[in-house]
Amino acid sequence: MANRDIRIVLAGPRGKMGTAARNLIANTAHFSLVACLDHKPPTETHFSEEEVPIFTDADRCFSEVETDVLIDLTTPQAAKAHLECALDHHIRPVIGTTGFTDEEIEQLRAKAESKSLGAMIVPNFAIGAVLMMKFSQMAARYFDDVEIIERHHDRKLDAPSGTALKTANLISDVRGEKKQGHQNESETLEGARGGQVEGMPIHSVRLPGLVAHQEVVFGGSGQTLTIRHDSIDRGSFMPGVKLAVETVMATKTLIYGLEQVIE
Ligand code: NAP
Repeated sequence: MANRDIRIVLAGPRGKMGTAARNLIANTAHFSLVACLDHKPPTETHFSEEEVPIFTDADRCFSEVETDVLIDLTTPQAAKAHLECALDHHIRPVIGTTGFTDEEIEQLRAKAESKSLGAMIVPNFAIGAVLMMKFSQMAARYFDDVEIIERHHDRKLDAPSGTALKTANLISDVRGEKKQGHQNESETLEGARGGQVEGMPIHSVRLPGLVAHQEVVFGGSGQTLTIRHDSIDRGSFMPGVKLAVETVMATKTLIYGLEQVIE
């Protein structure tokens, strides 16, 4: 593998993440962009610096262009179709698009394994965010009480974020369910104490100007511990995209989440 470039098709090349990914590929010596997948015809697309073909049909793209890895940064519906099509063509998918159910992931895992193909679905490419989740799980062994505050840009559709839910699940694996706060507490304003996962409150802030931020605040007798991560721009996700592309080339199953490969 070190002897030749990893040939990449990028789906969603005009998007915010897609633009950052094109930059990553252009600046990574052993990565090579061989084609793009867009849902608009090439005449309607607005980038021309790379001389690569732009396809609107994934099947045709993978039939005509020799490809090692598909990077998908589109929408959930498009990503599911692209992922299936890539596996059918023996191409290794790296999916940053969110919205896959557990059942879909298990079906795709079986399909990837039946073809001995590496695949990755990564809801959060920011390595710092993955470490924040891991450190939070470590801290939860010593602190039973915790609240999660996540902040995102106001274009985000879902709340709480997948990362906040994943953090809460990792913490509950260690400490189990616990009702926090005063046993008689009540809300005079609905939602004031946030949403609850296993008794752990999660608070979601949505404001223009934000990208993706999370604080995990632990409280104990006479002390607090705050673990915080900030994605300030989409460049924060690119080292994780690079790691995922390299990882799919070296594995033969589907890996869900970067935390599976970061020790
Ligand atoms: P975005 O700026 O809206 O980009 C999405 C791009 O995909 C747009 O250019 C869109 O084109 C294009 N697209 C839509 N349907 C398509 C299709 N069928 N085929 C090809 N391209 C298609 O969004 P973004 O912020 O870059 O995010 C993209 C995805 O990555 C989202 O699902 C987001 O949640 C996810 N994300 C993941 C991470 C992570 O760490 N894993 C981080 C940030 C974002 P039009 O605009 O013309 O519709």
